[in-house]
Amino acid sequence: MARSRLTVVLSQAPGKHPGKRALEESIVAALLLEPDLEVSVVPNLYDLGPDHTGRLFLGSVTGDVAVLSWLYPRAAFWLLDRDGIKGHFGETKLKPPSDDDEDGAETDTPVDRPEAIGATGTIPDRHIYTLDLRDANTHTAFVAEVRRIAAECKERRQAKAASNAPVLQLGLAAKPEVPAHQQAFTPEALLAPAGRRWYPVIDYSRCTNCLECLDFCLFGVYGVDSLERIVTENQDQCKKGCPACSRVCPQQAIIFPEYKSAAIAGADTGAVGGLKIDLSKLFGGDVGDALSAAVQERDRELVNDGRAAVGMAVGVPRRQADKPAGPKDDLDKLVDDLDNLGL
Ligand code: SF4
Ligand code: SF4
Repeated sequence: MARSRLTVVLSQAPGKHPGKRALEESIVAALLLEPDLEVSVVPNLYDLGPDHTGRLFLGSVTGDVAVLSWLYPRAAFWLLDRDGIKGHFGETKLKPPSDDDEDGAETDTPVDRPEAIGATGTIPDRHIYTLDLRDANTHTAFVAEVRRIAAECKERRQAKAASNAPVLQLGLAAKPEVPAHQQAFTPEALLAPAGRRWYPVIDYSRCTNCLECLDFCLFGVYGVDSLERIVTENQDQCKKGCPACSRVCPQQAIIFPEYKSAAIAGADTGAVGGLKIDLSKLFGGDVGDALSAAVQERDRELVNDGRAAVGMAVGVPRRQADKPAGPKDDLDKLVDDLDNLGL
C-alpha cells in the first residue's frame, strides 16, 4: 500500500558545531508539528555504514523522501543511490544564498551534458529530494520548502490514484500508518554513532563509463558490476582526504562530498562563492595541471602505504597523458582560491 506521508530525514553535521546543531534542532522541532510528515534524525549520511540503523531505516522507506544534510544535493542524491536508496531526483526550490537570480530560471551557464549511463538498477516510482542545510540560516526556509515538497508529493500521488481507477484509497487521510518493520527504528538506534568515512561517490547522470577511474586508482576502490558498469566496490579502501581520481574523471562525475573544494564536493553549475561557474571549465581548464595534482596525490598515498610511487607511468588516461602540465592559468587560480575559501 502506498505511504501517505512524506518521510523527512535530517542528517546531522559531523562533530558538534553548536550553530549547526541549533539549526538542526529548530528544523526538527518545527517539522514534528506537521501532520503529513514522518520525521527522523540520523548521523552524518556520508558516514553511515551498511549496517548502521540509520542506513537500514533509509533503505526501508518505500515512498517519497526528503533528506536534509550538510552535503550538496547532487552529492547526497548519488550517495543514497549508491546505497541502494533509489528514486527520481526531486528538484528543490531552495538555492544557495548567493544564487539570487530570479526563480533560477535558465540562469546557469549551459553545460554540455555527456552521454551518461544514468542511474543503474530499477528506479522505484518515488522521488528523493535532497536539501543542503547550508542553503539558509533559519529553520523557516527549510520548513516552508519541506511543506512545499509534501504538497507536491501529495498532488502527484493523487493524480496517480485518479488515473488508476478503480481507486482503493479513498480514506487515505484518516490515519496514516507506519509499517510495522519501521516502528523498530527507535530514535536512539537511528542516532547510534557512526565513525568517519571517506570514499568517492559516482554521479551516474554524468558518468560515461569510460573506466578511467578504474585504471587510475591503485587501491582497489573501483570495480565493475555484472554489466561492466563502474561501481565503487570497496569504498573504505579509499585514502582519507585524497580526491585524486575526481581530478582524472573527464566528466566530473566523481564526488568527494566532504572535500574542501566545492567543485569536487558536488556543487552543481551555478554560484560558488558568488561566481557563476561551469564545472566542465573548472575541471577541464588545464587538464595537465589537474592530472599532475592527481598523480602527486596518488603517489603520496602509495608511499604512505609503503609502495613505490608510479608517477605518470600507470593508469594515466591516454586522452590526458600527452597534455602538458602548463603554468597555472586564471581558471586554476580560481580553483585554488575556492579551495582556500574552504567552501
Ligand atoms: S572516470 Fe568518471 S566518467 Fe569515467 S567511469 Fe569513472 S566516474 Fe565514470
Ligand atoms: S581518491 Fe585515490 S584511493 Fe580514493 S578512489 Fe580515488 S584514486 Fe582511489
